[in-house]
Amino acid sequence: RAAQFATIRDLPAETKDGVHIRLMMNAGLALDMPHLAESGADGVGLFRTELQFMIGETMPRLSDQTAFYREILDSAGDKPVVFRTLDLGGDKVLPYARWEREENPALGWRAIRIALDRPALLRYQARALIKASAGKVLRILLPMVSHVAEFNAGRSLIDREIERARLLGQRQPRQVLVGAMLEVPALTFMLPQLMRSADFVSIGSNDLLSFTFAVDRTNPRVSKRYDFLNPAALTLFRQIVQSAAESGGEVSLCGEMAGKPLDAMALIGLGVRTLSMSPGHIGPIKTMIRSLNYGEISQYVEKLCGRTDHSLRSRLAAFAAERGV
Ligand code: PEP
Ligand code: MG
Repeated sequence: RAAQFATIRDLPAETKDGVHIRLMMNAGLALDMPHLAESGADGVGLFRTELQFMIGETMPRLSDQTAFYREILDSAGDKPVVFRTLDLGGDKVLPYARWEREENPALGWRAIRIALDRPALLRYQARALIKASAGKVLRILLPMVSHVAEFNAGRSLIDREIERARLLGQRQPRQVLVGAMLEVPALTFMLPQLMRSADFVSIGSNDLLSFTFAVDRTNPRVSKRYDFLNPAALTLFRQIVQSAAESGGEVSLCGEMAGKPLDAMALIGLGVRTLSMSPGHIGPIKTMIRSLNYGEISQYVEKLCGRTDHSLRSRLAAFAAERGV
């Protein structure tokens, strides 16, 4: 199988009727980066910066963060890297920091909520990213945004760091793009307003669907009530894609479902054009795309959105089997 995927590595991820899909990989450590060339991914669609903070015994210093981001950008060469700022809290805690126990950590003090309450964390991270991106395009993604105002507050902390670097006469990034993770249902209703200040959005389908279904996927008593291919989920994705398109915004998806062939097939049918996944999934997903007819799948998922099955998985599987996808 590895050899089979190596042969398609340099072929385009294009449907039979010519729709091009950008396939990106998720990463978080320097040792993930060789997979960029091996998988033929178009870039890193989600770089989880919290991993560097979680594996150490102390908080990484500014100089360590800068060196690390520089190493990542160097190893990516000309390919884009989207750095997600610290997504801590929930199930991700720092072993060296004092952490208050919360009744509902998934709904608690996490990600951008921490960043806005402890702005030094985000400002230092932005400072390191700006320094490491001198002369390059810097892409920053803010996690777990619930309100447009939160995104704007995060963005203005980053803008202050850009201004600081300018006043210090530092060499600047060629361009700074700031995007938001769509993981909280409330934000999906605010896309037109969000797109006035966000350069792009990335759907974090794991969190987004867990809040949409009100289900903890790690709890076996209820996990079956969470299905990526439920008609409500597909309708939600369709609405996000349409709303982003109307606002002229770019939307990608970086949750687990991006790497599952049937799920990715449905997303492509709904109009998603950029998927980010673990590098091992790029080959199988590209194989699926190259045997897919976009016109057919888009008509079919449109019809599926009107059904009431708990999961549309078996219908999508039958669609794929009939057409040799
Ligand atoms: C998600 O929620 O889908 C996501 C990509 O974020 P995490 O790092 O929490 O998986
Ligand atoms: Mg998430």
